[in-house]
Amino acid sequence: MVKERTKRFGRGANVCRRCGRRRGLIRKHGIYLCRQCFREIASEIGFRKYN
Ligand SMILES: [Zn+2]
Repeated sequence: MVKERTKRFGRGANVCRRCGRRRGLIRKHGIYLCRQCFREIASEIGFRKYN
């Protein structure tokens, strides 16, 4: 996964950059994904720090 500038995603709001929603948003390490999307992506990239 390439490091992306959150600002490039638009709005400048803290929203999930995968589904665009703010529910359970995780912005650790600039991830900016909701919990659900993060879990899916985390399993893909091997990021398992979040339970
Ligand atoms: Zn999401």
